[in-house]
Amino acid sequence: MTMAPEDHFAPDYATARRAFLRAAEDRGAVLDSHGLSVRGAQGEELAVDTAYLGPEQPACVAVLSSGIHGAEGFAGSAIQHRLLARQLDGLALPPDMGLLLVHALNPFGFSHTRRVNESNVDLNRNFLAHPEQHVPNPDYDSLYDAVNPASLDEETEQRSNEAILAFARRHGFPRLQEVLSCGQYDHPEGVQYGGERDEASNRILREIARAATRSARRVAWIDFHTGLGAYGELELIIELPASDPAYARGRAWYGEAQRSTIEGESVSAALHGTIEQGVMEILDDDVELTIHAAEFGTHDTVRVFRAMRADNWLHHHGQLESEQGRAIKAELLEVFRPADPAWRGRILATGAGLVETVVGALARVGEEER
Ligand SMILES: [Zn+2]
Repeated sequence: MTMAPEDHFAPDYATARRAFLRAAEDRGAVLDSHGLSVRGAQGEELAVDTAYLGPEQPACVAVLSSGIHGAEGFAGSAIQHRLLARQLDGLALPPDMGLLLVHALNPFGFSHTRRVNESNVDLNRNFLAHPEQHVPNPDYDSLYDAVNPASLDEETEQRSNEAILAFARRHGFPRLQEVLSCGQYDHPEGVQYGGERDEASNRILREIARAATRSARRVAWIDFHTGLGAYGELELIIELPASDPAYARGRAWYGEAQRSTIEGESVSAALHGTIEQGVMEILDDDVELTIHAAEFGTHDTVRVFRAMRADNWLHHHGQLESEQGRAIKAELLEVFRPADPAWRGRILATGAGLVETVVGALARVGEEER
């Protein structure tokens, strides 16, 4: 039986959640839900849901998490759903391996079509000690008005573009990308705000990670994203230098698809307070952790950035229920979840291959030890 991408790519958060829970239940997975106090765009309940398959005391665990960047969650959710509904028919897990699926780490953003959460926080910049580890970003401060304008009228836009381009000419595009994406902790109404405290999703994720990996000595973790890189292509981003043993493992498992932000190989700049840093901190030092962000490319970087910037303007200055508001939301969805069936089919196929690789690699390490 073949399935179309539409059988896995949900139209909205509520549908994605229902499909995930049903497919997990059909597989006999152990389900758990961590509710948020805020509501979704249709007034629905919001929760981070987990599905676990495997023994009570696994020696190794493969974790697949989706939706830390809200609207980016459709792709990860689709891969998780395909895995539960279909792929597991032909994928044997060793008896000592656990498989943990974490669905919609940022259910608010997923439901409301935002990349950030209910506090305008980029959760993937929130995993650090507040405020001790807040990193100043003076270049962001100087570009603040251009990046977060109070108006999107033509004249203001022209001024903003000129300011941003002038910075790029002076310091180069890689430095511009770093300034605009590494995170900032001084402007709660700006894009890429990392927050001032541990957000609810941050606390939930750490609780899940701690519980799920209690007995495990090896953990492989994939956190799904979209929006960076060439259209439809997968990059496995690692936030460690080439000298780290996890880098060598990642290279052996994923080959050239692994790229390090520290080595300047990645489509992503080096970031502050990411989920990878949070998980590394939570797990015991003797746990062998191999954690990557799986980033699927969509449209070009400038278009994606402009969509995020417009959505931030809409949230703070615009009218959601307006023609402009609806257009901004539609564009945000398109840059993180392209409508193109070919893109979706490619993401599902690549995602399934990645899952197989992770499970196979963990199983092989286990065999070598037995
Ligand atoms: Zn992301």
